[in-house]
Amino acid sequence: MQKYQTIFFDWDGTAVVSRELPADDVLPPMIELLRQGVILVVISGTTYNKIAQGRLHEQVPKDVRQGLYLGLGRGAFNYGFDADGNRITLHEVVPDCALRLRIHQVAFAVHTHLLERYGYDTDIVFTRPNYCKIDLLVNVDRGDQLYLTSGEVDLVNQNLAEHGYPGGVEGLIEDTVSIGQEFGLEVQATTDAKFLEVGMTTKADNIDYLLEHVVFERGIVIEDCCFWGDEFTALGPGVWGSDAQMITDKSRGADFFDVSEDPLELPDKVTHVTGGVQAFLEFLKAQVDL
Ligand SMILES: [Mg+2]
Repeated sequence: MQKYQTIFFDWDGTAVVSRELPADDVLPPMIELLRQGVILVVISGTTYNKIAQGRLHEQVPKDVRQGLYLGLGRGAFNYGFDADGNRITLHEVVPDCALRLRIHQVAFAVHTHLLERYGYDTDIVFTRPNYCKIDLLVNVDRGDQLYLTSGEVDLVNQNLAEHGYPGGVEGLIEDTVSIGQEFGLEVQATTDAKFLEVGMTTKADNIDYLLEHVVFERGIVIEDCCFWGDEFTALGPGVWGSDAQMITDKSRGADFFDVSEDPLELPDKVTHVTGGVQAFLEFLKAQVDL
């Protein structure tokens, strides 16, 4: 395997088994690679306080922090670190109140569309800074489980079909984009089955920003970059897991790896490496020695 100059990776389920546990296993090879000058980029849909309890930087020595970057919040936040080790916001895409309210209107219109025409119930979470979450499985409680559980997509598609809604989750994503256009917005709709998320950006925006302004800026070419995740898999026909959003026109020339156990189908570019978090850790350790 080649030595990569930049490694983009998902956090939950790829770098750590659970965000509640300490990041003790992944930190030593990360720090070693940073010492060697490798750029590391954490990509996650969550916010900074949810990555290593908001203390990731404290666990990385100050003198190597400048090689560490984070693209978080579904395209909203891109962070780096200055020479003193302080976290700095490189780029932020958070809608103002007026735009947030328009996104809320789109989400409510999706809710209305499903309830009025199909008698299909949803709940909406309005409190994210840059998107809404529409719960498509209101009677299914995930408990502490953050990830997609197998069969959830089938369950959503089955529920939608029972209510006479054609097209399943894929159709719902298309409808959401159309409803957004009625409100004059080019919304991005993504799903992990239970939740349909509606906002103006996705992980793809984090990737493109960080490639353009960090990686390419340093003269690193895309062929020397790789991307790791545990949710590249197809959730159903035409619907890909959230890590597939890391494949953009700018990133397409890189290598992509999925560590999940039984992906249904992976995008063309993605190599299946079974083994979960352990496989990613082995990869990092092997990169240290190259
Ligand atoms: Mg993950």
